[in-house]
Order: sequence, then structure tokens, then C-alpha cells
Amino acid sequence: MFEPVLLKNIDAPDGHQLSAYEAGGGYRALAKALREYTPDEVIDLVKQSNLRGRGGAGFPTGMKWSFVPKQSDGPKYLCCNADEGEPGTFKDRIIMERDPHQLVEGLAVSAYAIGAETAYVYVRGEYVKAIRRLEQAIAEARAKGYLGPRVLGSDFNFAIHIHCGAGAYICGEETAMLESLEGKRAQPRLKPPFPAVAGLYASPTVINNVETLACVPHIVMRGAHWFRSIGPDKSPGPKLYCLSGQVKKPGLYELPMGIPLRELVEDHGGGPLPGRRIKAVIPGGVSAPLIPEAGMGVGMDFDSLAAAGSMLGSAGVIVVDDTTCLVKVATRIIEFFHHESCGKCTPCREGLNWTVKVLRRIEAGEGAPGDLEQLDKLCKGIFGNTFCALGDGAAMGLRAALAHFRDEFVAHIEERRCPFH
Ligand code: SF4
Repeated sequence: MFEPVLLKNIDAPDGHQLSAYEAGGGYRALAKALREYTPDEVIDLVKQSNLRGRGGAGFPTGMKWSFVPKQSDGPKYLCCNADEGEPGTFKDRIIMERDPHQLVEGLAVSAYAIGAETAYVYVRGEYVKAIRRLEQAIAEARAKGYLGPRVLGSDFNFAIHIHCGAGAYICGEETAMLESLEGKRAQPRLKPPFPAVAGLYASPTVINNVETLACVPHIVMRGAHWFRSIGPDKSPGPKLYCLSGQVKKPGLYELPMGIPLRELVEDHGGGPLPGRRIKAVIPGGVSAPLIPEAGMGVGMDFDSLAAAGSMLGSAGVIVVDDTTCLVKVATRIIEFFHHESCGKCTPCREGLNWTVKVLRRIEAGEGAPGDLEQLDKLCKGIFGNTFCALGDGAAMGLRAALAHFRDEFVAHIEERRCPFH
């Protein structure tokens, strides 16, 4: 029987307050880590757990931490990527609003492991309530000695600063986020050097997502074996799934990694709206290629979704039913990426501009023969040729829509109208 841990406090009206967090065992993991483990032992524990980053890339967290040079004259930094901008994704917001101490404790344990005394939480600017709750949690934790100089009487000093974003999706890309934190225009950096070696202010920096950091105290308290016992061995652990779109019970669900997509949507989400049929599901935010209904047996984990031609991404699961025009869906998604393109590289900046123009005319019933081949060519020109993953995500999503629902695109061109109107 699966027992939720990440969301266990979120329904309590006072779940965001320190007293409630402590009553549920909060900050015991920090005390345990400081008392019983060296920083390297915490890194080993997280490595053994096989925790993979929940921000989208799925990189092993313990391995990422171990890339930080042990000997470094200057400071090391921990940055929390809380710039949750992927459409369909709201899991980090819920943690920060309703259980912010879980993140604060995760930050403290993780900073202790990598030898950082300062952490920055880069929060999406629209998340005003989350920012306020996080500020309150940091103040409460500091007053109780969980943050500040000599945390809980140890030699570990630790401070957390909040930085509010200003609405740019590209700040979710880790190096663009570092540029923004340094007060520059948010555009991705060339790698290498990787942030673990030269990140914020050219110092060794680890960047982790909110959900990833929230997992850390539970691993310290319950052990790596417990974490690995949940879900597939290669991507284990509890997982937050953001379910939205045309489904009976949208919401945030904590379930094991690897749960079949169909079980998530139909058993937990209640299935399609009355009288409707599911047509496709986007499994990991709009950067993830859609999965047609027939493919919903796929497991919701990094490897299974990659094998199915999609990705877990941010686990923003968006259900699309048979009343919705896929050309319209694809056009809105590409419009979003076009709007959010930072403009640094030509294939993304210009390619998405042309792609939007072609999609808009097809959607309006003004498409011409050859437009679909033009879209295929544009995807080919963008994919693999852009500076960061934004361009790839846009091209992959459109390619999947064209591959699985080409007949809808053809119908728009041949009938010179949207068949769904
Ligand atoms: Fe900017 Fe797009 Fe190039 Fe990424 S792919 S660097 S968002 S222009």
C-alpha cells in the first residue's frame, strides 16, 4: 500500500506553519543528518536512493552533487529552481504554499551535503502566495535555529534567500536562471563549464528542483532502501503528478513513479468527462510529445516514457478529449514557445516564428498543399540545432501531433475550415 509522504501535510489548514511541520516529524532529518552523517555520507545516501531530478531532465541527484569540487577556495551555492513555468505544472507551487518547511528542510540537508552556506530559491514571480509562505517559513526556521549560524549547534552555517522571477519561461532553464540571478538578461549559457564547477558568480553551484529537494529529508529519515522500494529501480520514489485538462478529477496526485498513465487518468482522475472519449494525453508538460489514447499503458517514469517517444518532464499531465481540435492544441503550444523563445539562436527564434505562421493559417482554414511538408521541414531544422532544450521541446511536440493526428491537419487544409467547429 503506497503511503504519500510529499503531500501528507497539504490538506491541514496550518500545514504551512512550523508547529505543524514539527508535529509531523519535521526537521528531524536535518538533525539526523548533522548528527549522524558526514556531508559525503549524505551524498552517498542520495546516490543509493537513485533519486532523479524531478524538474524534467531526470539526472541522478547524488551524482550531480558529487560533481561539486570538494576543495574550493570560494563559496559554493545551492539554487532551487522554483520557476515553475511549464504549462500544466503546479506541483512545486503546492509544496511551497502548503508545506514550505519541507522545502526549507530539504534545502538545509542538501546544502550541508554539498558544502554550501547559501541557497537561493528562484521562484516564479506570479506565485505570490508561495513566496509569502516561503518567506514566513524561512523566518520561523531561522528563529528556531534550523537556519542561520551554527545550525542546531553544529558547525554548519546556512542562509536562504528568495529571488522572484519576472515572468520569463526561459528562467526555468538552469543556466538562464543563473544569469537572471546575477542580474543579467536570462539567456542560457554555453556548457561546459557546467554549473557544478562554475555556476552562480562563477562558483560551484548545484541546481535542484523543489520536488527533488523535498524528497531529501524523507530519504534521510526512511533510508535509501525505502525510496528504492517504490516504483521502478531505475527511476524510483514517490512522484507528484499534475493532472489537468478534460478529465473528471483534475488535481495533484502523489503516487509511485512508474504508475501506468491509464491508471493515473482513469482510476485516480476519474477518466474522461461524461459522453467523451480520451484522444491523447500530454504526459510531462507541453514540452513532452503527446501520447495517443492507445499508448496509455505506458509507465509514468523517465525510461518508460522515453522508450515510448515522449518524456516525463515536469509530470504535467494534460488530457485531451475527442471534442478538441489537435491543430488548435498544437498551434497554442507552438505560440507559447514562440512567445517564450529568448531569441539567442536562429533555429528557435526564426523557426518557431515560421512554424506559428503556418499553423495559424492551417487552423484558420487557409492552409495550402505542401504546408505539412513545410512543418516537417521546420521541425527538422529546429530539432537538435538549438542552443537549449526549448527549441527541441517545441519541435518534438509538433512532430508527435503531426505523426499521430496528421489526418486532422489534412482535414483542415482539404475542407478549408476547422472540422471541430
Ligand atoms: Fe533561446 Fe530558444 Fe535558443 Fe533556447 S533554443 S537559447 S530559448 S532562442
